[in-house]
Amino acid sequence: MALVRDKDGKRLHVKSKLMGESLVSKTFIDGLDFAPQQRLYPDVAVIKIGGQSICDRGVKALPDILKEIVANRKNHKMLITTGGGTRSRHIYTIGLEMGMPTGVIARFGSMISDQNALMVATLLSPWGGIKMSHSDIVKLPTYFAEGIIPVMHGMPPYDYFAIKPPKGRIPIHRTDVGLVILADLIGSRRVLFVKDEKGLYTEDPKKNPEAEFIPRIGARELLERDQDDLVIERPCLEIIQNSEVIEEVQIINGMVPGNITKALEGGHVGTVIYKED
Ligand code: ADP
Ligand code: MG
Repeated sequence: MALVRDKDGKRLHVKSKLMGESLVSKTFIDGLDFAPQQRLYPDVAVIKIGGQSICDRGVKALPDILKEIVANRKNHKMLITTGGGTRSRHIYTIGLEMGMPTGVIARFGSMISDQNALMVATLLSPWGGIKMSHSDIVKLPTYFAEGIIPVMHGMPPYDYFAIKPPKGRIPIHRTDVGLVILADLIGSRRVLFVKDEKGLYTEDPKKNPEAEFIPRIGARELLERDQDDLVIERPCLEIIQNSEVIEEVQIINGMVPGNITKALEGGHVGTVIYKED
C-alpha cells in the first residue's frame, strides 16, 4: 500500500481513488467508477405488513394474512417487516404538542413498530416466526436454511438522528422507507407493501371515492407528478429511482385473499412502481 505525502510534505495519505477528496465534489463523484452493487439475497422477498392499514385491524385482518404467509413459506423466502399505525400517530401527536424534536418522535415510531413486530413474530412462532433485529440481517441465510420466518420492525434505525423535514417534525423516513432501504441493501427482487387499498390512486380513495387507480407507474414520473397524497411515504420514490438493484415494488391489498401469494409469484394484483431508466 503506497503512502504519499501532500505537496507541502505535511499530510500522509494512503494512495487510493478517494485520496484527499472531500467526497462532496459533484464533478469528482460523476467521474468515479463504481463496481455494480452486489445483490446479497436477491431471492428473499421483503414484505411490509401495514401498521394502520393492517395491524390495527387486529383479528379482522391479521390471522388470514399470516395464514397466507405461512402457506407460502415452503416456496418463498420471506422477510416480514411491520408498520406502526394508530399508536404511532397518537404518540406523534402528543410528542409534537409537547415540542419533542424529530429524533425523539422517530424513536417513538421505532418502539411502536417493534410492538407490532413482536406480535406478528409471536403469532407466526408455531411456523418458525422469530423476531430479529436489524443487525441480524447478515444471518438471513441461516434463518432460511432452518425454515424460519424472520420478522423485524420496519423503521429505519435513524432514531435520534432522524432528519428534520422542511416543515414540522414528523420524520419522513418511516416504515415504508425502511422497506425500500432494506430491499436496496439485500438486493431483493420482490418488494411488497401489504396495505388495505388496491394500490396507488390519483388521490386518497378513502377521501375521494372517484380517485382513479394507477396500476403501474415509474418512480420518476410519480415524483414529478407531485401528488398531494400517496399510498407510500414520499422519499420511497427517490430511493427506488436511485437504487442500483431495486427493479420495482408492488403495493397490494392484503384484505383480498390470494393477493400475497399471487404477488410473491410475480403476479400484478396492485400498483407496481418501477425504477425508470
Ligand atoms: P401503512 O399502515 O401500511 O403504513 P398507511 O395507512 O400509512 O399504510 O397508508 C396507506 C393509506 O394511504 C391507504 O389506506 C389510503 O387511505 C391512503 N392514501 C393516501 N393517498 C393515497 C393514494 N394516492 N392512493 C392510495 N392510497 C392513498
Ligand atoms: Mg404509513
